Amino acid sequence: MLIETHAHLDYPDFAPDFDDVVRRANEAGVTRIITIGTSVESSRRAVELAEKYPAVYAAIGFHPSYVEEAAEDVISPLRELAKSPRVVAIGETGLDYHHLPSVEAAKQKNVQVFSRALQAETEDEVEAQVRDGAYKARQAELFEQQLDLAAELGLNVVIHQRDAWDDTLAVLEPYQTKVRGVFHCFGGSLEQAEQVIAMGHLVSFTGIVTFKNGAAVRDVSARIPLDKFMVETDCPYLAPVPYRGKRAEPAHTRIVAEAIAAARGITLEQIAAVTTATAEAFFKFER
Ligand SMILES: [Zn+2]
Repeated sequence: MLIETHAHLDYPDFAPDFDDVVRRANEAGVTRIITIGTSVESSRRAVELAEKYPAVYAAIGFHPSYVEEAAEDVISPLRELAKSPRVVAIGETGLDYHHLPSVEAAKQKNVQVFSRALQAETEDEVEAQVRDGAYKARQAELFEQQLDLAAELGLNVVIHQRDAWDDTLAVLEPYQTKVRGVFHCFGGSLEQAEQVIAMGHLVSFTGIVTFKNGAAVRDVSARIPLDKFMVETDCPYLAPVPYRGKRAEPAHTRIVAEAIAAARGITLEQIAAVTTATAEAFFKFER
């Protein structure tokens, strides 16, 4: 028995064969699936799916990459959605500096981005930096608001972090005793994994552990304590080998677990038992 802790089942990729996707997961021993909201609308769809399918549960949240489309108040609708007993966590939330507005604007203009270390010389560059600052500040604000909501509701959070490690930990700091997080799709170093584990958080691994170039992450998954991580697919993205490039789906959680079992030299059953117990303690399945 495995729990798929991070799927995006509300994405249109799954609409054509949703029932088959859930059935294949079940056949692979993936008995529970947490579908993750990335906006208010996506969270609403996640709750609807969780209310319809007994194997599906929902996490509701607002993804940092979409903050520029966020309404002024995303917390009130999320709080309303959280009334559903099928909601087991808040997220995904966090910080993502990979697509800063200045970088995206530069790509469109097809000009080179100057290192931030260089002094901004043109008005355009100054404006881009101001916009980046506002974008980061808005991400931090939404992250904090969702941490507050999680604390208020007694839920844990699913954290998305990309190119923003230090700032993510800084935002989390004051919530130490109130909220625990899972650093989903973990891709950091062993030291970083140990750092967040020491803070009481968890990490979770995707199909990257099966990739040829995933040796570093695979190694981290083999070396951290067995009870400090969970498994996921982040489907429809990151399909594991041998499905790379195709649509990932929750059934592939088993392949992720098998890869980690092999890396640790233990059985799939051992991985399944411990990651399931970890997920049961982290997510609020019974409300
Ligand atoms: Zn995700």
